[in-house]
Amino acid sequence: MAERMFGTNGVRGVVNEYLTSELALKMGKAIGAVLRGKVAIATDTRVSGEMIRTAVSAGIMAVGFDVLDLGTVPTPALQYYIKTHTDVAGGVMITASHNPPQFNGIKCVLDDGTEASRVEESRIEELYADDIPSVAWNKVGKEEKITGAGEAYVDHVISLVDSEAIRNAGLTVCLDCSNGAAYQTSPMLLEKLNVRAITINCNSQGEFPGHPSEPTEDNLKDLKYMTKATKSDLGIAHDGDADRCVFVSSDGKYVSGDKSLALLAKYILSKEKGLVVTPVSSSSLVEEVVNANGGKVVYTAVGSPIVARKMMENGAVFGGEENGGLIFPDQQYCRDGAMSIAMMLECIVMSESLASQVAALPVYYTEKRKTDCPEEMKKPLLEHIEQIVTDVKAENLDGLKFNYSDGWVLVRPSGTEPIFRVYSESKNRDVAISRADSFEKLAWDFVDPEGLHLVKKALQKKKRTKKAPVNPQQSTL
Ligand code: MG
Repeated sequence: MAERMFGTNGVRGVVNEYLTSELALKMGKAIGAVLRGKVAIATDTRVSGEMIRTAVSAGIMAVGFDVLDLGTVPTPALQYYIKTHTDVAGGVMITASHNPPQFNGIKCVLDDGTEASRVEESRIEELYADDIPSVAWNKVGKEEKITGAGEAYVDHVISLVDSEAIRNAGLTVCLDCSNGAAYQTSPMLLEKLNVRAITINCNSQGEFPGHPSEPTEDNLKDLKYMTKATKSDLGIAHDGDADRCVFVSSDGKYVSGDKSLALLAKYILSKEKGLVVTPVSSSSLVEEVVNANGGKVVYTAVGSPIVARKMMENGAVFGGEENGGLIFPDQQYCRDGAMSIAMMLECIVMSESLASQVAALPVYYTEKRKTDCPEEMKKPLLEHIEQIVTDVKAENLDGLKFNYSDGWVLVRPSGTEPIFRVYSESKNRDVAISRADSFEKLAWDFVDPEGLHLVKKALQKKKRTKKAPVNPQQSTL
């Protein structure tokens, strides 16, 4: 069996260490051989984008297929282009999403615009390992530059919302693109919707200056401050490739992804009743809100392509993840940052401000823990926990989920790191904490019965608290 190269979001690594031009070229040949037709390609704003893109394109052309270069656009703009151009066999997005600037990645998209599943990825890995031959000199592919893919994507997003109502509302928002792929499309979307946008980190310097591109509360301090200070109706932030979107309310408060998922589910269900799909790791907040609004939640394993496929199979009206990845079936079956902005704008125009909507939500407390866990111990640890915890029956959709009368605990090994995760949620904070503590202890006792991690932790603490020596040069300045 060929070596596994695709993680949960494509092939990723540090550029010119793992992700070299040689790897990208070979990967391009394998992707071309699997897609077998015209391939659309795009990048986010990373400095290594062109190097990786041209290498992947050269590989695709070397096995005889044409390449359409869409330039720098968000991942969902590439997916929308592929979905709406029947002569395109699939695509490649060069991005490492929210990872630091030294990383980049290669993500494969199928002809319907959805992310490649494990089946296609395994096939690509097999062909990569075989190092497939190139075609004859007169059979190589050509590359064509395509302009306007970003604008066509934005226009379609606008066509799916009540644009007149948004245009007439006189809204002001603060927009933070983390200097990523939406630096042109999201300001364009807001301008076309007559929304005044105060922008930060909407440049394309490629090194993500400003803040790391994972849209967490800690990374969005400037956006929170600016949204409140400018009395904006909303703060909006994307991750690096803008398939995700999170919000800040007008009072400068960060709105977590499961809250925006719950609120948009409520809004969408007010127009059309149906199913909402989300992974088992999402807060019960989503289920409570969906049930109260005449919908039903369907749970899946963690991973946006899994959520998207479940939505397609069940004709769901909405779906998404707690990290700001929201999927709108009328637009396309993938996470879509611009569509999330447009729907949230319509939601606050038609309903109340985001701050009042968030204040009306039920409160849940979630505790997250992780323990070190080598790959070979992940499965035995899960089996051990299933044997030991007998007070409630476990669901095994992804890891093990224990549903108690006043909350739940999910334990699952990470798919990409030697880590075992524990999530505990309850409306009672003490219950959430004590269950997280006991499951974490259970995991540590199994992987490290001698308690070496406690010694390591104590040593690290000692090192941190040790006073730093005074630098004589500095002290004289
Ligand atoms: Mg992303």
